[in-house]
Amino acid sequence: MNSNDTARPSSGLSRRDFLAASAGAAFVAATGGFSGTARAASPFVLPPLPFAENALDPVISARTIGFHYGKHHKAYVDKLNKLAAGTEYADMPLEKIITTTAGLTDKAGIFNNAAQIWNHTFYWQGLQPQGGGEPPPALKQKIEASFGTMEACRKELANAAMTQFGSGWAWLVLDGPALKVVKTGNADMPLTKGMKPLLTIDVWEHAYYLDYQNRRADYVDALLNKLVNWNFVAQNLG
Ligand code: MN
Repeated sequence: MNSNDTARPSSGLSRRDFLAASAGAAFVAATGGFSGTARAASPFVLPPLPFAENALDPVISARTIGFHYGKHHKAYVDKLNKLAAGTEYADMPLEKIITTTAGLTDKAGIFNNAAQIWNHTFYWQGLQPQGGGEPPPALKQKIEASFGTMEACRKELANAAMTQFGSGWAWLVLDGPALKVVKTGNADMPLTKGMKPLLTIDVWEHAYYLDYQNRRADYVDALLNKLVNWNFVAQNLG
């Protein structure tokens, strides 16, 4: 586990949430999940990484994770806490902030920071050391029903990641009954379009530049083949 103080239970996660997060069921515990209910949100906390900072090396270096998680992801949390303090958003679950502020020009700061917290937490959960390979059978069947083959699914994800102009994200989503690949710019994400995220690839330059410089394709290819946590994707499918 990481040693970042902001990830400790005392900063907002209950001990139970923290243990659940440590066990790998982090997503719902750390963000309130998709239901948008219950948990007091404020202050927003930086959820723990589900692996050590050097665990994805050499595909993604400890240096990249150090900046990406410890600086970028943390900055979104700090910024949202500043922007939300004393407003109706202070105690709102992240998902609700995202869906209620999407598209509102005067709430762009709140939306961008809330969505970026959510997107990054989701991104980390979708990765693991020695990942990639084959998904669990039920998920594989669903992927083959929607894309034909696993390889076609990976290809479509890579293509979305490569053709996202500038900063953004490539996603595997559930849209109605079917699996789909979509891409979003900057902080935007599929919950605002009524789609359920299953996996995401961060294609902001900060995600890969220290390791791959301008070679986004190499980063995406390595991530898809060596890091994807297909069990997490299967859990999201429900
Ligand atoms: Mn990022």
